[in-house]
Amino acid sequence: MKPILKIQQSGQPVLRESAAPLGQRQIRSQEIRELIEMMRETLRDAPGVGLAAPQVGVGLQLVVIEDRELYHRDLNPEQLVDRERRPVPFHVLINPRLTFVDPQPLCFFEGCLSVSGYTAVTPRAAAVRVRALNERAAPVEIEARGWYARILQHEIDHLVGRLYVDRMITNTFMTTTNYQRHWSCRAVGEVCEALGSPLASSLAGWRPDR
Ligand code: ZN
Repeated sequence: MKPILKIQQSGQPVLRESAAPLGQRQIRSQEIRELIEMMRETLRDAPGVGLAAPQVGVGLQLVVIEDRELYHRDLNPEQLVDRERRPVPFHVLINPRLTFVDPQPLCFFEGCLSVSGYTAVTPRAAAVRVRALNERAAPVEIEARGWYARILQHEIDHLVGRLYVDRMITNTFMTTTNYQRHWSCRAVGEVCEALGSPLASSLAGWRPDR
């Protein structure tokens, strides 16, 4: 079993810096192979659905993603459908470039392992395309919708020093405890309204790349 890495919390400078791209030789190096293994263990231990290298203090353009079915057990079938959430097998993306395929905003509560204990409604584009390299330095292209598209946008933001709190609907920022206690069973539109940020006004002029 590989050691678990420490997940950096908001306020650590590395989380606000742009990460460096990796070269072909570097991708195949022992050091990067070990980093990927440790990030996989750290992600599963957390647990989370994505982890970017800056979150473990490494300023490189590398993310790991895995959305396991066992993480879906707290969501009912309707919530899974609403979120377009399906299991995503473990994979690695290196030097990713993201483009928006469907820029229509979808709003759900989102959290981050580097902003531990909090969550907020965060608009994300409905569908994206990502071109990247995998752990063997081979090119990959992904088209994703729904929750997987959200994960990709969230993780790739980390590589340019951006956190979900930069994109959230600020009135909805709350502890995960209060989310569970007061809001988890209510529709997002209703929550935004009740917290003084109706979706219609919150999304006026919204753009996925702002
Ligand atoms: Zn994050």
